[in-house]
Amino acid sequence: MIQKQPEYAPTEREQAFLAGVEDSRYERQIINGLAPFFSEKAPEDMLGFYSPDEVVQLRVLKGTERDVEQRMPVKITRHYYELAKTSPSIQRLVKASPDETLDLAGSEDPGNQMDYSPVEGLLHKYEMGLMYVVSTCSAHCRFCYREELIARKEIARQDGTVAKKGLAKIPEIIPYIKQHNAEVAANGGRHPESGREKLREILLSGGDPMVLNNSKIAAWLGALAEAGVESIRIGTKEMAFYPQRFDDAFLGMLDRFHETYPQVGLHMMLHFEHPDEILAKDEGGNYIEDARGFKQWVPATGEAMRGLASRGWLTVENQSPIIRGINDDPDALRILQREFKRAGGENHYFFCGRDIVAYRAFNVPIERAWQILNESQKGLSGVEAHARLSITHYKGKTEVNAVTNEPIPGLAGSENGVVIFKILRNAGSAPDRGKVCIVGRNPDAVWFDGYNDRVLFDEAGLYDYARVTKPGQAPASAARIGGCCR
Ligand code: SF4
Repeated sequence: MIQKQPEYAPTEREQAFLAGVEDSRYERQIINGLAPFFSEKAPEDMLGFYSPDEVVQLRVLKGTERDVEQRMPVKITRHYYELAKTSPSIQRLVKASPDETLDLAGSEDPGNQMDYSPVEGLLHKYEMGLMYVVSTCSAHCRFCYREELIARKEIARQDGTVAKKGLAKIPEIIPYIKQHNAEVAANGGRHPESGREKLREILLSGGDPMVLNNSKIAAWLGALAEAGVESIRIGTKEMAFYPQRFDDAFLGMLDRFHETYPQVGLHMMLHFEHPDEILAKDEGGNYIEDARGFKQWVPATGEAMRGLASRGWLTVENQSPIIRGINDDPDALRILQREFKRAGGENHYFFCGRDIVAYRAFNVPIERAWQILNESQKGLSGVEAHARLSITHYKGKTEVNAVTNEPIPGLAGSENGVVIFKILRNAGSAPDRGKVCIVGRNPDAVWFDGYNDRVLFDEAGLYDYARVTKPGQAPASAARIGGCCR
């Protein structure tokens, strides 16, 4: 029997907002998969993107457990291909390589994210919700930390069921938010069961929400605003893959949204790994500078950035992982942070890689990532150097706060120096913010489990924590388990 889907009825205000939204047609010129390269059906000028040797090596893996496309689908836009032609970093970001599947260790649900999913497509993390609104992007990063969603893999959940990650649907999500917030309000500001506050901030994620048309994005914005959400973020890498998407129709939709719901905060969370994604180069591969030494942006990217940054009522932020062979380079990160701030953006986070399947092919050791970011920020001004290095523990966002070279006098285990982690956001408990965990150094550690045998101090509970037993609720006090990779 086909189950009837719940209905969602927009308010009059919402309908008036949606009625003025325009959709555009876009020519991303996407090449999907490796088949067009294997069969030489890709546009002629793109065929050389994979050398004959690379084609042979990748073809041999097809259908085996080392099939790179099974792990993560391959996809590229024409715009990104043009950038990649002169950039080994960008090539590494988007080009499939046989090395990716040499070691398939890792988690299909990094950080047990599904523990936090009370409704399909929503992760409820304290005051914030993350929603999967689409399962693809205009191009695909090989290191993607949502590879399980994009490759539509089956994920085991805590209740024993196994299913693909589903997408968020307005008729299911909005009632959940309204009900949670009504229960919080009726109980004096805290949820009666979980103790959590109002769900007041939502991140539209995926995949990339910017592959949806304006009407669909607007439908989410309007529905969330009507549900009382105070702040909405749109997480996107589209400005790197296809900056022409940030056209007048899109910006006009944002303007209408702001006019209709001026009290709702809007934040564009962009994703640039490397300055080669934003800066124009000359034929010799050098960044083009004007007579006064200002670096020139890729024209379409500069225009897109100006379109967002000129709207003072929204913020434009960049966040990116530090990935081996792509941006594990202090000079590149220094230029990226400086240029992004100069264009009116804010440098938000850099991330250590997650424990995705095949993470060893991409992740930079934690201590090295901290050193790279720290080195990159030498010579940056205070406003340019806001970004912190974050690593996402099961409990939530955790800052890699410091790495020391000297022992701490009297502290056994600190002989080679220590790493200090600090909780920024605990998905289950806000008061945990600021708690730290100190471990003895291990320069090879790429994930928390690399420190299992050298924890020196752990008020943050990164190495002794409880898993959430009911999505949307606080962790149980019993059922302690060990490192977050288990
Ligand atoms: S843009 Fe983000 S979600 Fe899309 S492929 Fe890259 S890392 Fe994954």
